[in-house]
Formats: sequence, C-alpha cells, structure tokens
Amino acid sequence: MSGELSYLGVSLSRPRVAFFELTSCEGCQLQIFNKEATLIDFLSLVEPVNFREVMDEKSNDYQIAFVEGAVTRQDEVVKLQKIRENAEILVALGSCACFGGVAQLKNRFNDMEWVKKEVYGDYPIDTQQARPLSAEVKVDLEIYGCPIKKEEVERIVVDLLVGKAITHPKYPVCMECKANENICLFDLGEPCLGPVTRGGCDSWCPNSRMGCWGCRGPAEAANMDQMIKIMARHGISRETMLDRLECFGGFAGYVEEMRTDETNEDIQGNSE
Ligand code: SF4
Ligand code: SF4
Ligand code: SF4
Repeated sequence: MSGELSYLGVSLSRPRVAFFELTSCEGCQLQIFNKEATLIDFLSLVEPVNFREVMDEKSNDYQIAFVEGAVTRQDEVVKLQKIRENAEILVALGSCACFGGVAQLKNRFNDMEWVKKEVYGDYPIDTQQARPLSAEVKVDLEIYGCPIKKEEVERIVVDLLVGKAITHPKYPVCMECKANENICLFDLGEPCLGPVTRGGCDSWCPNSRMGCWGCRGPAEAANMDQMIKIMARHGISRETMLDRLECFGGFAGYVEEMRTDETNEDIQGNSE
C-alpha cells in the first residue's frame, strides 16, 4: 500500500480491492460504477485489481474483497473460501450476501429435488439452499440493501481508510421517511415495513411512493408486535406482512417465530 494520499491530514493507503459475485443479479456491483459523478473520487481511494464487470485484469493480490450474492452451490463454497484466504477484510455486499436475499425464497420449499425439477426440468444443476456468506466463512463487514447504496459504500470505504469505526443506522426507515416529508403510505392504503427496517437507504422506496420490503433487515429493537398492529389497523393481512418479511431473508428469525406462533395458535384453536 502506498501512503501518499491523505484525508483531513491523516495519511491514507490506497488498498487493492476485488469484487466477486456468487448467486446474484450483479446489481450491487453495478451500483459501484453507476454514479459517474463520484467515480473518480472513489477510484482515487481504492485500486480495483479484480472486477469482472468492468475490467479484464485479474489478480488475487488484494486486501479488501467485496463479495456479492448468496451461497447456493458447492463450487461457490470453494470460491468463497479462497477469497477468504486471500483477503484481509471480507465484505458482504448487499442483501443476498448478508441474508441470502431473494434467492433464499426457495428455502421455503423443503424438497430441494422438487425445486430443481420444477425450475431446471431435464437440465438439473447443483443448487442448494441459499445461505448468507457468514454461513460459510468469517465476514468482517456487512453492507445492506437490495441493491446497496453507492453513497453508503463510499462512506464505509472512507471510514475504513481513516480507521473509523464502521457503523450502521440503528433507527428505522420511518425516521428518514419523516425527515424527507413523505406522506405515509399507510395513509394511501399501502403496506410498508419502514417501522421495523434498518434505515440508511434514505427511505428510497417510500420517496417513490412504494412501500418498504425490508431489504436492509431489521432495525435495532424492531417492534414486530407493533408492526402487526399497524398492519391490522390498516386492514392489511398478516400473510401480506409475512410475504414482505420473507422476501430478502433479513427477518428470517422473526418470520420463523411468527409462523411457529401461528401453528401453535392453530393447534390450540383446533384442540378447543
Ligand atoms: S442484493 Fe439485490 S441487487 Fe444486490 S445482487 Fe442481490 S438481488 Fe441483486
Ligand atoms: S411510508 Fe413507511 S417508512 Fe414512511 S412513515 Fe409511513 S410507514 Fe414509515
Ligand atoms: S425502503 Fe426498504 S426496501 Fe426500499 S431500499 Fe430502503 S430498506 Fe430497502
């Protein structure tokens, strides 16, 4: 690393970074190069040495690895382990990498052989239950979102370079939505998971009059009982809420608890 750069008088390195994908849509990687206005600044902070979407060169000599996507195949496990061996810092990039993302929706079907047959027919491939990176290797840092927000990645990279603690908002999306002076979507008859979802996206979806689907996972101390009550008060079913909570995998623990409660209520109801 060279020590030529400085930020607020603090000398900076320019770490070699690499970007990789597992099972994903590559939308998070695309975000990195999607905002030309800050691209030159970003590239002055880091030196990409491996980034299949935008460059031909490939090197395994990197310090920070950004890995997008869920683990769904055995060859991905091997690939991820090699990345882990090479990287000083391994970053899970986006909801697929952090929680399993949309790919983990297939985990709802217990019979994986049936899933393979339905999806791939006579062309079976090795596909397993979708898992976050942390199920296979140690992850140093998670960057949430489907997709990630470039601004957040830039902030985190600067924090890393100046040795600042990396923090994520603890408050929910509603805080940002209120600050943005949006009309609450519940008042327009739309469901929204903003009250229980971790902020940091600047209420991206409600700003465009779309309800939050919880892609960034739960806010600290997310009050799910209150969320159920808000949904019910606006005539939105528990099943609609569960559909949303299940979408990206960040609320998996809560969903399991709610499904178990439902089953217990059914059993108790049936036995009465
Ligand atoms: S988190 Fe969303 S945008 Fe990123 S790779 Fe997964 S599906 Fe694509
Ligand atoms: S639209 Fe959603 S995020 Fe915004 S205030 Fe209403 S519930 Fe909260
Ligand atoms: S509003 Fe919700 S679904 Fe939309 S980007 Fe933010 S956290 Fe994700």
